[in-house]
Amino acid sequence: MTALAPSRELAVDAKTAPTAESIYVSILSEPTSLATAHPFAAHVLACALTMGVMESLETGATISCALGLDRRALNQLTLQWAPAARDLFDLVREPQDCARDEEEEQLHRLLTRFRADPSPLCAWMTAIVARRAMSPRHLWQDLGLLERSELTRLMNEWFPTLAAANTDNMKWKKFFYRKLCELEGFSLCVAPTCGECGDFDNCFGEEHGASALARLTRR
Ligand code: SF4
Repeated sequence: MTALAPSRELAVDAKTAPTAESIYVSILSEPTSLATAHPFAAHVLACALTMGVMESLETGATISCALGLDRRALNQLTLQWAPAARDLFDLVREPQDCARDEEEEQLHRLLTRFRADPSPLCAWMTAIVARRAMSPRHLWQDLGLLERSELTRLMNEWFPTLAAANTDNMKWKKFFYRKLCELEGFSLCVAPTCGECGDFDNCFGEEHGASALARLTRR
């Protein structure tokens, strides 16, 4: 399920604690022509922005830190794709620059190497995926997506060569690290092949869990 139609029913009320769903709906409430023409991209960005706002409200972190985007990138992204998100920034700490640590930098380099094109959108997706991959849950959950298949679609659209290399449908975060190891010429794998490895479920098992936006799918 993707790209839900915006509705004013769940509009954010600053006096009550907004839910993830109300934030998502508010973010998409003033779609630009770009967002209308590319609903999946608009949905992915709205999911990520929702996670950024939620984390800012819950932890006091800035949206920049939650999403790996500096103030300028956030301004451009929201202007082009989700101008209504800018109203929500009044509820949280002002966006600012937020540096990547070494691990995230390596992942960012990997994604940059395989990104589909040099467009700003692809650069933003790269930064967002790298930053959210530093969070502890399944990557699709930490991106705020509705289900894992949306992450696979994201990878296919913005990192197609990398996505095509995940022939066995490995968990995406595991796959990223495996790829990083391969490129460095070593392996963290504990067995010569996946079939005989005791870590198999860790790398390929189901990725259960609820989406932060699960209620949207029940409307
Ligand atoms: S299942 Fe084992 S061998 Fe396969 S990628 Fe995971 S750790 Fe490596």
